[in-house]
Order: sequence, then C-alpha cells, then structure tokens
Amino acid sequence: MKYHLVTLGCPKNVTDSERLTRALTQAGHVGIDDSDLADLLIVNSCGFIDAAKDESAQTTASLGAAKREDQRLIVVGCWSQIEPEPAAAIPGVERTFGIEAWDDIIGWLGPSDPVDIPETGALTRTSAYLKIADGCSRPCTFCNIPAIKGREFRSATVESLLDEARRLADEGVKELILVAQDSTAYAEDLGQADGLAYLLEQLAREVPQVPWLRLMYAYPGFVSDRLVEAMAGIPQVCHYLDIPLQHGSPSVLKRMKRPHNLRMVHHTLDRLRTAMPDIAIRTTFLVGFPGETKAEFEELLDFVRESRFDRAGAFAFSPQQGTPAAALPGQLEDRIKQRRQRRLMSVQEGIAAEINDAYLGRELTILVESIAGQTDDEGRPLFVGRSYRDAPEIDGLVFCYGVARPGSMPRVRVTGNLGHDLLAEPVGAEVIPVLNG
Ligand code: SF4
Repeated sequence: MKYHLVTLGCPKNVTDSERLTRALTQAGHVGIDDSDLADLLIVNSCGFIDAAKDESAQTTASLGAAKREDQRLIVVGCWSQIEPEPAAAIPGVERTFGIEAWDDIIGWLGPSDPVDIPETGALTRTSAYLKIADGCSRPCTFCNIPAIKGREFRSATVESLLDEARRLADEGVKELILVAQDSTAYAEDLGQADGLAYLLEQLAREVPQVPWLRLMYAYPGFVSDRLVEAMAGIPQVCHYLDIPLQHGSPSVLKRMKRPHNLRMVHHTLDRLRTAMPDIAIRTTFLVGFPGETKAEFEELLDFVRESRFDRAGAFAFSPQQGTPAAALPGQLEDRIKQRRQRRLMSVQEGIAAEINDAYLGRELTILVESIAGQTDDEGRPLFVGRSYRDAPEIDGLVFCYGVARPGSMPRVRVTGNLGHDLLAEPVGAEVIPVLNG
C-alpha cells in the first residue's frame, strides 16, 4: 500500500514517525510525498496544548475533505491518544491509534499487496533526532505530556541507541540531536547514574563519522558535573544546550512545581559557561501562568536580562484539561498573556542580536542544509546552514554565498548580523571531523 504520513508536533513525534515509517516499510508499504497518489493517509498528531490539538484536527479534516472514496485516513499519536473520540469523529477518519502503535497499525493494515515504487528521488538528510527516552515523571502543573506519554521515564537501551546511531550514520547524517521529555534523566530507570554522559561517550566512540552530537531538553538541577565534563571533553558534542526553565520568578516556579532555586540555575549556567566559554544556551519560558503578577513578570524579565540566553522561546500559558494549573485561580486574560509574551521576546531578541554581534569577523563551521535560489553579483549561489549554536527549526540560520552542497560542513567567516540569523563568507575547504566554533 502507498501511504502518505503527515507529522505534527515536537522532535519526539518526528522520531515516532520514523519508527512508524520503518515498520510500514518492513511490512512492504511505501511512503510517498503526494497525498493524492496515496492509498492510506496518516496524521501523526500532537496534543500538547489546545493550539496543537486544533492543528491536528484541521490537518485531519482537510485531508478527510480532499480524499477520494477509495483512500483511507487514520489519526495516530498524542492527540488521538488522549482524545480519540473527537479525532474519530472527523469526517473521513476510519480509525484512530495512540502513541507508539506501529505494531497495531501494521496488524490492522494486514499484508501489503506489491507496490510500484514511484520515482521520488533520493532523500538525503543532514541531521536526525535520536529519541533516548519517553514518558515523564516530573510534576509540572501545566503539562499534560505525562498523561499522554506515561508518568514513568522509559529509557531506550544504550545498545538500541547505538544501533540507531549507526544506521543513521550509514545514511550519512552529520548531526544527531538527542531528545526526550527530560534528557538529563536518561537511564535513571535503568539504574545508571549519569547515563547521559555515558551515552555521549559511547556515541562518540561508536559513530566518530558523525561530527555533531546535540543535546536538547535538559532539566534544571540535573546538569551534573560529569555531564558538563563530557560536553566539554568530547569534540563531537556541540557546545550547545537546550534547558527549558519556564520562568524566572521563584514564586511562579513553585506554583508550576518546577525547580525554583534560582541560585542553582545561575550556578548551572556558570558551570556550563566556565567549561565551554563559547557555549550557546537555549531556554523556553511560559508567561501568563495563573496568578502571575506584574511584579512576578518583571522578575522574569530581570532574570532574562541577567542570564543572557543565546536563544529563548516564550509561550503564553494555555490551560490544559486535567492539569492542576488549569484549575488554579487567577487565570489571566489572553490579551495580558500575549502582551507579556511579546514583551519578553522583544527583550530576548535584543540580547540575542547583541550576542550575534560578537560573532562578526569570527569563523564558524556550518552544516549546509539547502541551496537557496538566489545568487550574488558573481553568480555564486546562496547556501543556508546552521552553526553549532543553532538547533533545527527553532534557532538561527547562517546564509553564505559560495559553492557548497547540502550535508557539507564548510568553514565560514561571519560578515553580517541579521538579528536572529547571520551572514557569512566561505573561508576555506570543508573541515571533517568538526570541532565546535
Ligand atoms: S519535565 Fe517537561 S515533559 Fe515533563 S512534566 Fe515537566 S514540562 Fe512536561
């Protein structure tokens, strides 16, 4: 059967779609890009917040409305895990499945008839996510992920992750991005202390041909000295860390049931910056949490100004059914939440642009991801890439005129600051393996 898979949501959902793709391929089904030519349409949905649920519903509804009589449509993943009825009620939906239901889906589809494989051209990708664990036992009062993914950490074994990494390295990826709900808890459930540092060492030893290992979703208070040493000591580990902090006011953090000792947070940032002076730190904030006062919001802004994150995202609180925070008094109006989100992002954008200024004239190695259509006066094409400071889709880009191909890692010199992104010039031949900076 020819299937067309639409993936919504976070990087962990991307890895779930890859697991489903592998299972379908092994069962003889073939993935295609054109939904009109598919026999089966699959939406791997997201249920994190209401906006994500709406997007899952709209995506499914538009596929349902456009599909032919003989085409089948199913919804899988996080949204249909927690709200199967509304998903099943969308016209055209034949069946819904929850998370990690690849075996059930294969069983339901039954054996595949032989399929002519349409010419789609080789897909080379430059980077891939490696989901190291799933589920979460943290008590954050605003989050429904434990209700979707399970309240226990389920770490993948080191062996299975090394197999996955070898497979992706053979595919030619240049970057492995380690993701989980909380990467710093990796292997705790397997009885291994400092499992994440150990995993990084094993990955560096097993796939030396993968120049970049990137860490996402660290939990404050669990960035151990061993992990900092491993990040600083292993050349392949990007000097980059994503550590969602959610707020900068201890009283709000207490109501979120999040680590609220800001001295610990500052100490963590100091340890990282001392061990890796060029480290890029990303974080995420939630503004407009129930009861958030003007003073508490100002505390957050002061924390952002003082901590000077390279990258930060901010979301407006949206109450999720079944979470403790949804029932808290002091729910704020949307216009206040959005105003605070804009204000925080304008402060952060100023800081990020200042930090980008410090890169003018400096050399960076970038991972080229695409070649844009335009050329400069000398007819050189524009290629687009990311430096070690940039995770895909959420951080900045580096634009550079010159000759390069996707997946190459040329050295460039920064010539312009575009606020969120950088402009650069090539300075030399490709460099592999690649160190940070
Ligand atoms: S650590 Fe992250 S995934 Fe886990 S409950 Fe908190 S916000 Fe949700």
